[in-house]
Amino acid sequence: HHSGGDEYIVMLPFMAHGHLIPFLALANQIHLRTNFTVFIATTTLNVHYLKSTVSSAADIRFIELPFSGADHGLSPNAENTENLPLSKIAHLFHASRSLEPPCRDFLRGAVQERGRPPLCIISDVFLGWAVDVARSFDTVNVAFSTGGAYGTAAYVSLWLHLPHRKTDFDEFTMPGFPERCRFHRTQLHPFLRAADGTDTWSMFFQPQISLSLKSYAWLCNTVEEIEPFGLEILRNYLNLPVWCVGPLLPQAALNDSSSSHTISRRRAGKEFGISAENCLDWLESQKSKSVLYISFGSQNTIGASQMMELAIGLEKSEKAFVWVIRPPMGFDLRGEFRSEWLPEKFEERMREKKRGLLVRNWAPQLDILAHRSTGAFLSHCGWNSVMESLSQGVPMVAWPIAAEQAYNSKMLVEEMGVCVELTRGAQSGDITAERVRTVISRVMDGGGEGGEMRRRAEEIKLKIRAAIREEGEQKGSALKAMDDFVASVLTNREQQVT
Ligand code: UDP
Repeated sequence: HHSGGDEYIVMLPFMAHGHLIPFLALANQIHLRTNFTVFIATTTLNVHYLKSTVSSAADIRFIELPFSGADHGLSPNAENTENLPLSKIAHLFHASRSLEPPCRDFLRGAVQERGRPPLCIISDVFLGWAVDVARSFDTVNVAFSTGGAYGTAAYVSLWLHLPHRKTDFDEFTMPGFPERCRFHRTQLHPFLRAADGTDTWSMFFQPQISLSLKSYAWLCNTVEEIEPFGLEILRNYLNLPVWCVGPLLPQAALNDSSSSHTISRRRAGKEFGISAENCLDWLESQKSKSVLYISFGSQNTIGASQMMELAIGLEKSEKAFVWVIRPPMGFDLRGEFRSEWLPEKFEERMREKKRGLLVRNWAPQLDILAHRSTGAFLSHCGWNSVMESLSQGVPMVAWPIAAEQAYNSKMLVEEMGVCVELTRGAQSGDITAERVRTVISRVMDGGGEGGEMRRRAEEIKLKIRAAIREEGEQKGSALKAMDDFVASVLTNREQQVT
């Protein structure tokens, strides 16, 4: 452990919910381990939410960078970026570049006040401009990927090289990945499928990611022992140190003895009519590992006809479920849920039979995954969801929608063997009730294939927990990575000073 002193670190998260969570957890970890002051510089839009989640004891300070959501097509009174629909996220990307000048202003003040530059800037991979900012303030930028190693490598390689544009085949290989890892066009989000280097998405990602490749090093929200293959690819590709500082989850989620009720870290959807307690009480009434938990993350939803097929398939499967449900694509995500989107009397039937619980909009996900009744997770495979599921030894059914989710799901299936892919992507028409039923049964059935997946997920859970254990001289890989990272930037500073 370091003394801390007056060293400080500045963090620049990307402003989407799924990025903020690991950034905040990383800030906490760094502070706990080093006693450094950690500044998180972000927009007014996010500060409110972030502050509400931090314990007042930690010396984590929030810097509000002036930012007008209204200038970027966001509602002027939007309180935070939780539950933002994908269409609005596009604005966030472009708006994120406007944070550079206020970030420089903040750093100028901080350097003056503290008499030295920050030890490093830790910026989201999407905020590549931080590399230049760090350089002009005599410090270094460390890029932080909130995703996993495999998914990050795929995302970076795809956007930078657009390999699918160089072939007429549906399957293709890509720079950095061995021949056997063939990707398929259907695994690409429509934005990426159509990208040609001059479209608005390429124009954002290519320069920002390229700049991030010039960072001093990378941090990755994964665990060395669970992603050896992805890490080999990522390290070879980047040719930079990559420290695995994951799992960045609330501590309670990782305690072996954790009673599920202690994990909850947010007011779970009171405003949507179901409390965290209701959800957990319902799980209490179910058999061990018998419930399928279904959620598509903080900002995605599925198509209306897919929702119908999913519901019919669930009913046919006769498995119990908790389904976080929101209006389908094309409707206001936070709008009223209409019963016509589901089979007639579906919710009533499920309630009467104690077969399924529909949770509007938001559920206490970690509590649910940690609960003994939960047997599998049907997920869009956002990386936080993946890590949360694996940390509880819960196998998955994949329904990737956007971002690097399809690459995460490919990795979960091919490298980890803890997952079955139900579909790829929001646009695909391959969701049928029958397919839902068979895939769910494959994963949920305790014996055979399902049992194997559960066994592997259990093994991964143990590796994740070992990574953050410390017994005397023995420290887990995540703690060692954190210490190595800190030692490296401290040494770098000394070399610069002398
Ligand atoms: N989450 C939750 N309740 C919900 C939906 C999401 O608590 O009903 C949390 C989930 O536990 C995870 C995060 O929101 O920590 C979603 O992040 P992820 O990377 O899985 O997906 P994203 O929202 O970025 O697409």
